[in-house]
Amino acid sequence: MNHLFRKLLAAGIASATLLSGVSFAADKLPVVASFSILGDLVRVVGGERVSVTTLVGADEDAHVFEPRPADARAIVQSRLLVVNGLGFEPWAQKLAKSAGYQGVTVVASQGVKARVMNEEKSHGGTGHAHEETDPHAWQNPVNVIDYVRNISAALSQADPAGSPVYQANTDAYVKELQAFDVWAGAQFAAVPAKRRKVITSHDAFGYFAAHYGIRFLAPQGVSTDAEPSAKNVAQLIRQIQREKISAVFVENMSNPKLLAQISQDAGVTVGGTLYVDALSATGGPADSYLKLMRHNVTQLAAGMKLNVN
Ligand code: ZN
Repeated sequence: MNHLFRKLLAAGIASATLLSGVSFAADKLPVVASFSILGDLVRVVGGERVSVTTLVGADEDAHVFEPRPADARAIVQSRLLVVNGLGFEPWAQKLAKSAGYQGVTVVASQGVKARVMNEEKSHGGTGHAHEETDPHAWQNPVNVIDYVRNISAALSQADPAGSPVYQANTDAYVKELQAFDVWAGAQFAAVPAKRRKVITSHDAFGYFAAHYGIRFLAPQGVSTDAEPSAKNVAQLIRQIQREKISAVFVENMSNPKLLAQISQDAGVTVGGTLYVDALSATGGPADSYLKLMRHNVTQLAAGMKLNVN
């Protein structure tokens, strides 16, 4: 067999493989992700081989989500259910169970060092405190490396033929996450340490704050399901005034009224919108995880520079 013939034969095998790939594409691996940020990560890792259904969509709040019948159907028809875990979406497991889901459930945050916080706010500032796990681990991009590796491993198990693709997509994305992290660190390093403080609606930035050395103050606790007490709001307003904090931000998926009131009472203006527990709609400023993070870092760094001290 001469060299040219070998090459033609190899090309023939390659195109046959390609064809079988195309026939698989018509029958993609059905995956359900509990909320939009996970949906994006599954799409990044799975590429053309997966079809992703997201339960809590863009600009929606997973803390107070009420599943619809269509969500139960989507879970039953999927082979893989991807959840955040850490107590973020307890409704997802309940929904899967009641729908009779037989497939695999992946906890994307598996292996991430969970942040535990003393939660007093959700009890109306009565002094009764208990420890609560902070579910917002995706706010640290280094944790998201674990997320995509967990997702990649689960996809490979469900679809072994796709394993090299999932691995390659994951490796490429991990490099993007690492580059983002270096860039974000540089943005905040440009802000004097004592000005790195921010007001947001709910306490979703614990992992982000610890990773980048920023103080976040919020009237609501780690979940949006409880209204803050009048006492907590009054305390926060005094703190804004005492520490002269100008960086006040609203969140895309929660009610902006509370923060608008607080900023008015404290005599500061709202600096902009952060995308926190949900992506923006497609075409918006935060329609992927990395765009969301870049948007938030840019907004936060600019807002903190306005802090007086
Ligand atoms: Zn949240």
